[in-house]
Amino acid sequence: MERKNKSTKFIFITGGVLSSLGKGLAAASIGALLKARGLKVTIQKLDPYINVDPGTMNPFQHGEVYVTDDGAETDLDLGHYERYLEISMGKHNNYTSGSIYYQVIKKERRGDYLGGTVQVIPHITDQIKEAIFSVVRNNEDVAIIEIGGTVGDIEGQPFLEAIRQLRYDLGKENVLYIHLTLVPYIKTAGELKTKPTQHSVKELRSIGIQPDIILCRSEMELDESIKKKIALFCNVDPDAVFSAVDVDNIYKVPLAFYKEGIDQKIAIMLRLPAKNPDLSRWSRLVEKLNSLKPGPKIAIVGKYVNLKESYKSLHEALIHGGIANGVHPQLLYVNSEELTVDNVEEKLKDVHGILVPGGFGYRGVEGKILACKYARENKIPFFGICLGMQCAVIEFAKNVLKLESANSSEFDPETPHPVIYLMREWYDVQKKCIQRRDPNSDKGGTMRLGAYPCVIKENTKTFEAYKQTLIYERHRHRYEFNKKYAEDFEKNGMMLTGLSPDKNLVEIIELKDHPWYIGCQFHPEFKSRPMDPHPLFVDFIKEAKLLMKNSTKD
Ligand code: GLN
Repeated sequence: MERKNKSTKFIFITGGVLSSLGKGLAAASIGALLKARGLKVTIQKLDPYINVDPGTMNPFQHGEVYVTDDGAETDLDLGHYERYLEISMGKHNNYTSGSIYYQVIKKERRGDYLGGTVQVIPHITDQIKEAIFSVVRNNEDVAIIEIGGTVGDIEGQPFLEAIRQLRYDLGKENVLYIHLTLVPYIKTAGELKTKPTQHSVKELRSIGIQPDIILCRSEMELDESIKKKIALFCNVDPDAVFSAVDVDNIYKVPLAFYKEGIDQKIAIMLRLPAKNPDLSRWSRLVEKLNSLKPGPKIAIVGKYVNLKESYKSLHEALIHGGIANGVHPQLLYVNSEELTVDNVEEKLKDVHGILVPGGFGYRGVEGKILACKYARENKIPFFGICLGMQCAVIEFAKNVLKLESANSSEFDPETPHPVIYLMREWYDVQKKCIQRRDPNSDKGGTMRLGAYPCVIKENTKTFEAYKQTLIYERHRHRYEFNKKYAEDFEKNGMMLTGLSPDKNLVEIIELKDHPWYIGCQFHPEFKSRPMDPHPLFVDFIKEAKLLMKNSTKD
């Protein structure tokens, strides 16, 4: 297994005890700190599940599908990576067991293994190593590789075996293992307990990986005696055991890690040419976070409301928009399936902004359309994203253009007024594009995925937000606005303020006689960062804040 770049150092992050300890955030925060030390950093997530990508998983199962510029459908941790490291992710930043096995099986069918028996070791593990090396694209100093799941999971074993081998392939000085565990506080005993960490490290060592650093997630800081105990039982230096204490805001993690000295220890252990870190931007962000005032109430009307992770980037983008406006918005998740003509008033009357997010399938659409109508008629700031924009278009067609049976052909293939439809020509072009990018793709290229250009009309609220005419935003959808109805919409007050450069695709709509009513066919939330908030989210929160101010005056 040859790697192209010989000087990149690899940091492997594994997790133990249980999931949801914030391994992605820890990986992203370590990356941010190393970047602040002047190092060139890249980062990758390896997911043990068998799906070839998370695109086919229901958000209820695995949370949001994060879309990159190059159109990869990836794990939501890549969103954290972009938000913390401020670098664009792509398809090389995320592999799953499914994608690894898929490659190996394709090679086997092609006869690449020439009569050999294809096995987990070395064929799958070699493919994993190739995937790991593929993330180093620009002579990065450090590549951080996060292994999904928890040590001990059956699916994760080939990944752990591959990273075990890499220490021997690349040399000790080039590889560092960090293990994240939980140190629970047991109230009845009044103590922090180290046993789960000991067991988890034992499990890791039984497969040949000795962690160099142990990161202990806990409610409170670990004192020296606990650190020493963990060090002794887990065979690491006492100054390589760190607390990862709960913080009230996820953007405080990098500075908390810095205070612990984690990045310094990494730099020493890997002999990295690291400067003193410049953390001024992170400190400024934390200062802002500490001074946020209670903000407007925003209703997010969707159907995946029971699992917060389903709207991860959206949630974060709203928080970023709040930071830019000095407020912490109150986010109220409203189940669109439960919204009816009879209760819409009661559920939405106190909110200062309504956001209808993306989604697939008919379930819950009626409630989303009601929310669009309520926002339009009551002049409440409204933001429709992807399916949210499509619902706003359907609502406008039904109630303003009086096309009562208007619909998306996704929900009613027979509708006489498919204001949202599957654009045949587009669909065919797209299929060719995807196959050109990946000749082996058999997904059939049914979705418009990744970054596409959009031209914004001046003298619109959309332009006021973006302050530029050419933008690139990320898409993930099949259906489009039907331009056959364009004139009718514009004449009646729904402006088409963002179009594809060839003017064939409607990317943004906006209502004329409304304080702020914007819908976009793309997902702006994927590009929002805490230190570079997305302009549409900034302006949406600004308008909602204004409404809050005006309504408290009344
Ligand atoms: N279901 C719609 C489509 O495929 C919207 C998708 C989305 O919101 N991401 O066009």
